[in-house]
Amino acid sequence: MTIFQNARFFTTVNHLKDLPPTRAEIAFVGRSNAGKSSAINTLCNRTRLAFVSKTPGRTQHINFFDMGQERYLVDLPGYGYAEVPEAVRAHWVTLLGQYLASRNSLIGLLLIMDSRRPLRDLDWKMIEFFSETERPVHILLSKADKLSRQEQNKVLASVKQELQDYPQISIQLFSSSKKTGCAEVETVVQSWFAALDQAEAGTQENTDAAGTLPE
Ligand code: GDP
Repeated sequence: MTIFQNARFFTTVNHLKDLPPTRAEIAFVGRSNAGKSSAINTLCNRTRLAFVSKTPGRTQHINFFDMGQERYLVDLPGYGYAEVPEAVRAHWVTLLGQYLASRNSLIGLLLIMDSRRPLRDLDWKMIEFFSETERPVHILLSKADKLSRQEQNKVLASVKQELQDYPQISIQLFSSSKKTGCAEVETVVQSWFAALDQAEAGTQENTDAAGTLPE
């Protein structure tokens, strides 16, 4: 049983004021068509879990999935749609920007990029914007099955090279079609949750210790 396997649709949000309070969440983001929904479905071992995020009217919303143990998976709207009315785009930029910059319970970002066309302009914008938070980013180079082994190694090495100035970013190959790379994602996300648990346990210890001090 993986941490993603129990994920269930929880809620859809279109305004920041409606964000549900959560203890910890990880968010998936990427250019539209990068393979984000497929990656969520593959990791959660479901065929249509992220389908809800694709239903008309919800593609520009933030969708929450409950993973149990007070942990949430968040499916953020895809960016880079060719034709989006300006008002919709402006709403999206505000919603996504404010969510990424201010969401305290967001412990890490999973960024999906098509392995055949990684690090496009909007991906860089996302990386630079989110880096301000100093929180970890894990990049999935998706649709790796479309590349030869040699091409896979080459793209992985070159993306690592280009992002060498970002120590909080890790990168891996992923394929939803072949279901490869799932264990690696799992390990990274587990480590984020474990770090949070540890930090919270430390805080608790400090609080307990403070409580035992003689008056
Ligand atoms: P999203 O817009 O980022 O959610 O992208 P989708 O998950 O809907 O995928 C976009 C297209 O890429 C669809 O036609 C998928 O079938 C295809 N796709 C997604 N993941 C893979 C993959 O691992 N391998 C291959 N060959 N195609 C994929």
